Amino acid sequence: MSFDDGGDLAELYREVIVEHGRKPRNFGELADANRHVEGQNPLCGDHLEIALRVDGDTIADIAFTGSGCAISQASASLMTEAVKHASVADARTLFDNVHAMLVGAAGGDAAVDPAALGKLAALSGVSRFPTRVKCAALAWQALRQVLDDADATTVTTETSEP
Ligand code: ZN
Repeated sequence: MSFDDGGDLAELYREVIVEHGRKPRNFGELADANRHVEGQNPLCGDHLEIALRVDGDTIADIAFTGSGCAISQASASLMTEAVKHASVADARTLFDNVHAMLVGAAGGDAAVDPAALGKLAALSGVSRFPTRVKCAALAWQALRQVLDDADATTVTTETSEP
């Protein structure tokens, strides 16, 4: 597989999104969660409920349920996979990088090298479609919100930039 060919790379990204959309990781309830947040993207009808168990400075466990387009569900799947067992600080850094990738690329100027983000680079594929950026950003916005404020309940894309 060649990474020099933009077409192949786009196809690879698409496959990651489709695969995570079909078989989302960490999908389900989390019985011993100590934080919950709900994410809504009214533009597309995406809805996520994310539950975490934060032990000290570590995201000990995370799960989500939801419905909506494949991109929102795949992004939530990729997000939970990426931050499970990570430190809260690392999760924040990851949010910053994904956010920069989505917003930067949407502005035509990639602020982050997608290759540095591993599998999460697949989300860069949606940045060419501005209406889809909110779908991809939803899970990440909800994650940041619940890490910033343990009492956070709902994040809506209409009231926050991607
Ligand atoms: Zn969507």
